[in-house]
Amino acid sequence: MVATELSEGLYRLGLGRYQAYLWRDGDRATLVDTGEVGSGALIVAALAEIGLSPDALERVVLTHFHDDHAGSAAEIAAFGVPVVAHAADAPVLRGEVPGPPPDFTPFERELHARTAAGLRPAPPVAVDVEVADGDVLDFGGGARVVSVPGHTDGSIALHLPEHGVLFTGDLIAEYEGEIIPGVFNLDAAEAARSFRKLAALRPTTACFGHGEPAIGNADALIGARAEALA
Ligand SMILES: [Zn+2]
Ligand SMILES: [Zn+2]
Repeated sequence: MVATELSEGLYRLGLGRYQAYLWRDGDRATLVDTGEVGSGALIVAALAEIGLSPDALERVVLTHFHDDHAGSAAEIAAFGVPVVAHAADAPVLRGEVPGPPPDFTPFERELHARTAAGLRPAPPVAVDVEVADGDVLDFGGGARVVSVPGHTDGSIALHLPEHGVLFTGDLIAEYEGEIIPGVFNLDAAEAARSFRKLAALRPTTACFGHGEPAIGNADALIGARAEALA
């Protein structure tokens, strides 16, 4: 199985080393991120597992331009699926400008060399819808775009207040049972501010770009880490 149902309508897609999420409203769905290059077939398989085809995808939302999230965006866009991303990351996604590299700590530089080995660059993709903080997308009862710069300039989270669900992108991660700020940031101080902005939303369920999602207890876990950061 590629798709794991986390709660009603919410699925985690296991895409090899990486992951994406799917929100389903009846026979329509929104994909959040796409994994690395070459994950398109797995995403199609995940849709088939839950009785949907790529035609059911109303949009794919990219939380940011990094290759482990946007790698298969072009493969999904090829099905005629509109691509949604923040205006600040859109030029990178389109291939118009190179993505600014993270401001690595020495630890992160070594970690990145190990974990990103073999990660292929995301092919350019057209961004059909550029979004900004406060925009609301028509799924999950109204999905609010939350601008969370720091990881990349155009990083976004998606908040579904009606369901208490938060897609954090890479601003927050889970690693070996710990909730941690994401690594490989453009600006770690700004990323910390964005972490606190997400904590203030007090989600019930949080879907991280990396690691195990927090189902039902996200508020306590993220809140405790935000306090430690402050
Ligand atoms: Zn990232
Ligand atoms: Zn990532």
